[in-house]
Amino acid sequence: MARYVIPSWDLPALPVRGTDAVFPVRRIHCVGRNYAEHAREMGGDPDREPPFFFAKPPDAIVPQGGDVPYPPLTQKLAYEMELVVAIGKRGAGVQRESALEHVFGYAVGLDLTRRDLQAAAKEKGRPWEPGKAFDKSAPVSAIRPASEIGHPGSGRIWLEVNGEVRQQGDLKQMIWPVPDIVAYLSQLYVLQPGDLVFTGTPAGVGFLQRGDELHGGVDGVEQIAVRITG
Ligand code: MN
Repeated sequence: MARYVIPSWDLPALPVRGTDAVFPVRRIHCVGRNYAEHAREMGGDPDREPPFFFAKPPDAIVPQGGDVPYPPLTQKLAYEMELVVAIGKRGAGVQRESALEHVFGYAVGLDLTRRDLQAAAKEKGRPWEPGKAFDKSAPVSAIRPASEIGHPGSGRIWLEVNGEVRQQGDLKQMIWPVPDIVAYLSQLYVLQPGDLVFTGTPAGVGFLQRGDELHGGVDGVEQIAVRITG
């Protein structure tokens, strides 16, 4: 084993319900627009666009939520409540019929977004990282193994901010369901155990202030709570 010239760090990891072992996080892929109503509220056409993907770095995860500092250089911090897929088996060019064999389990997460920086990047045709891939931009719950909960194709996805329901939808409203997402993604990248996939958010996205308390989940999967701190 080589010696590192600087101190190494622990792999980002998520707890797994029902075990004291953790799930190491390798990559975080995210689907752009995957619920028709949200695609429309962002100015897109849900009927004509194939899925597109962006990424966050693995160390952006905030395991099981908790305090998230309001990030720098934004006036428009947005929430997006999402179902998160945890990949457990290598896959390249996966067929949608066998795609779920590659899924270890499911979690819920927040795709926190500096919407003003994302909008500026879109306008100028620049990369999305400043808007999407900042520190602590990916609070994620514990993972529930598919061996316990199966593969949810429906179920309420919801988010409350300060006790008020802001987002509410159902997994069955996804334009591209999980098997399609895994199949598409595995054409672009080799999927490996440890990869997470954020699967898109339902309508109702909005902005956050310091002190806001978020509580969200997917019925039958998990819940997460986050507080935006100063
Ligand atoms: Mn998203």
